[in-house]
Amino acid sequence: MKRFTCNVALPEMVAQMEREGIQLISSGSGKHFGNCPLCGDTETSMTVNDERQVFDCSLCGKGGKINTFIKHLKDMTHAQVANYFERQKAIDLAREIQEARKRALLDTEVI
Ligand SMILES: [Zn+2]
Repeated sequence: MKRFTCNVALPEMVAQMEREGIQLISSGSGKHFGNCPLCGDTETSMTVNDERQVFDCSLCGKGGKINTFIKHLKDMTHAQVANYFERQKAIDLAREIQEARKRALLDTEVI
């Protein structure tokens, strides 16, 4: 059986979760807590470990890296998640270029 390997660099977990609209509370000790969107949790059962870049929900038992989280959240395959991150990176890059152009334009106007 061919195993799918993800060649895409995974985005930072907390930043990605916030991007998906998930509210997280920082514990101040390298951990974040939030309501797990995968099981409709309202008791703040989800823990995000910043250092290890893994999440864990004590209610539904789901856990893993950010690609696993997105896979469950959006009901995607691992390949679709990889595409999703690639597309997001491309959008971010396009935005950065646009902003750099804007700044460059402003700089020339000052001169
Ligand atoms: Zn859960």
